[in-house]
Amino acid sequence: MLYSTAAASVLMATGALIYSPISAQDTSTDTAEAIESAPWHDNVEITMQPETNSFNYKSNGIPSHGFAEQYLIPSDPSNQPFKDKPAEFFVVANSADDFIESELETTITTRPVYTDTTTDTSLGLIGVAINGARIFNDYEDFERALTAQDDQVVHDHVAFLDNCNGHTLANGKDYHYHGIPVCIAEAIAQPGKHSSMIGVLADGFPVYANNDVGGIVVTNDDLDECSGHFGTTPEFPDGIYHYHLTADEAPYMIDCYHGEVEETRAEGPNGQGPDFAAAADELGVTEAALREALGTSMPPDFGAAAQALGVSEDALTTALPAPPGR
Ligand SMILES: [Zn+2]
Ligand SMILES: [Zn+2]
Repeated sequence: MLYSTAAASVLMATGALIYSPISAQDTSTDTAEAIESAPWHDNVEITMQPETNSFNYKSNGIPSHGFAEQYLIPSDPSNQPFKDKPAEFFVVANSADDFIESELETTITTRPVYTDTTTDTSLGLIGVAINGARIFNDYEDFERALTAQDDQVVHDHVAFLDNCNGHTLANGKDYHYHGIPVCIAEAIAQPGKHSSMIGVLADGFPVYANNDVGGIVVTNDDLDECSGHFGTTPEFPDGIYHYHLTADEAPYMIDCYHGEVEETRAEGPNGQGPDFAAAADELGVTEAALREALGTSMPPDFGAAAQALGVSEDALTTALPAPPGR
């Protein structure tokens, strides 16, 4: 059962987040114990919320494994793909100067419910990693035409994605993964075994690197359309629906949820999608005009959009913080 964001907030407000009628309990799994005992890194604070069958995740947004010294930032993000662009097209950002703590707080169910229908993942936050970083899907644009890992580019040893398959947004915030976070996954991998849990998606189902039972490497052929399957994992010896990130070919990330999830689960105020209506209000423009000005390329060209709307770029970025993807 999908429920709207508004309905969810109402339920939250009344303190009674009821995911579905009794029938769904039969198909749901209780992940609370595994979540509580997962090896969350020190920068992550997990609060179990048994009364609402959920947990609250809080982190500073900075990956505990460290990051590359420099990243390539496309000078014109709308000019995609980046792969064939010359070195001059990119700005080299020194991460030591540019990395900004970007607090991440979200609440995720501990009673994920598998659904036959799927929900596309959005740009922006789709899940949380055990080391405090964000999990994004594989795309860099709303049209789902550009896969970050396939658009990987390196100039003079500086890369668009680091060797953990992550990077920040152009503003130095919101470090996120577009593929297997190898730096976490390898640290907790047990040779010859199913990968260990590296995080949880917004629908509450756990996510793993690409080793299945017996350490066998899974590829897209072994998984459903959402890169998941039912099976046993180290944390769920009785079996659970879970996602695998793959390394062979796109999607390297999760394109859809196979679990019940709020319709808009991109990051924004209260962990919901960017609030275009509120931003438009604040700027004194219509929501349609705002969306039109921002266009579909990621991240939007805020300068051009501000000009089109007749507002300052500062006002625009304040009204609409952190674009959902780079
Ligand atoms: Zn598996
Ligand atoms: Zn990105």
